[in-house]
Amino acid sequence: MTAQAARGSDVGDTKIRGRRAEDRDEIHLYNKREIQLVRGEGVYLWDSDGRRYLDAMSNYGVNVLGHRHPAVDAAIRSQLDKLVSCHQSFYNDAREEFEEALVAHLPASLSRLSYGNSGAEAVEAAIKYARAWSDRRRIIAAEHGYHGRTMGALSVTSGEKHQAPFRPLLAECEAVAFDDLDALAAALPGAAALILEPIQGEAGVNRPAAGYLREVRELCDRHGVLMILDEVQTGMGRTGKLFAFEHEGVVPDILVVSKGIANGIPMGVTVVSEAVAGRVATGAHGSTFAGNPLACAAATATLRTLTGGDMLERVAENGAAFVTALTALNHRAIREVRGQGFMVAVELRERVTPYLRGLQQEGVLALPAGNRAIRFLPPLISEMQHLQTVVETLQRVLERSSKIEG
Ligand code: PMP
Repeated sequence: MTAQAARGSDVGDTKIRGRRAEDRDEIHLYNKREIQLVRGEGVYLWDSDGRRYLDAMSNYGVNVLGHRHPAVDAAIRSQLDKLVSCHQSFYNDAREEFEEALVAHLPASLSRLSYGNSGAEAVEAAIKYARAWSDRRRIIAAEHGYHGRTMGALSVTSGEKHQAPFRPLLAECEAVAFDDLDALAAALPGAAALILEPIQGEAGVNRPAAGYLREVRELCDRHGVLMILDEVQTGMGRTGKLFAFEHEGVVPDILVVSKGIANGIPMGVTVVSEAVAGRVATGAHGSTFAGNPLACAAATATLRTLTGGDMLERVAENGAAFVTALTALNHRAIREVRGQGFMVAVELRERVTPYLRGLQQEGVLALPAGNRAIRFLPPLISEMQHLQTVVETLQRVLERSSKIEG
């Protein structure tokens, strides 16, 4: 018997064996929830006790088409029968098909891409390309922004909690207030690039004032600074457009996409303008698994499904109705409801954890954003009835908490 099998056999109840083994075997990087998820279908997930949950978080924004989407599953199965892995030093048909499909949906100036396997990796590439593009070194980011936890991405992810234990980080990374054009104008001269989320996700679904991104674009142009938009969370239809920059008709110099891009198969993409690509030398970046045919096939199917009908229009409409319905709850524990499309936060006046636990006990899975906001990132296939269930469940959880307090 292998050591792993031997250890597995003494952890008891098979239903929760995985969970216990994870607690024992992993570095404790996550506060795990009490349930073990074993199956998904559409907007639902099931735990090892057979309990069903409405998924209002899409695996942290990843499963834009929910779970086991037939088009994505068929593409994965068909690719499994052909070729799973193919290094980028060879051409590949699935990769070619994906690139043609993605570039067709992007503004003409965003014409060159490279691959990674996660959001952070795609951010790393963006930072490297910005430094390859000019002799300038400085990268400006936004306070409370989140771009990932590898060392480069961490250097532009603000917050003492994230950064302090790992300093020194990348030199010449600086954070300025989000949605503050004066602060930005003061910081930009001499910088290589600015990296921003169009809506800050982890920080609490922070939407900037209308017109902010357009002004940012102008400031970047004025100072010859590259504008990097991190659409890892806002991209792939999350806000009701394929990419959030489309809402303001702004085009970044570098676009970072991941999470929903392949509906759960790990993938990250960094798209740049021709001018930026021209300064990146062959061999300047690379990654063994990146751009593999399996992820590319899943990504092509995801993109076609997202854009093939009226799904994104419905995300915009139903997302607005969802915000209205949550606002109408008008409960004293709620400070503010905000969001766009299916990226919505309910900011509370108190800590969020008991409410997330309450929602989970009532069969709805949601996320925190910071300490005080409940974040909903439902699959984009969710219908109004599912969002209504989320609203009604939150109402029950809020009422129950008032009774306990009272
Ligand atoms: N950028 C943004 C905007 C994100 O929301 C995240 C993940 N939450 C990342 C980057 C990092 O992605 P990953 O966890 O795949 O490295």
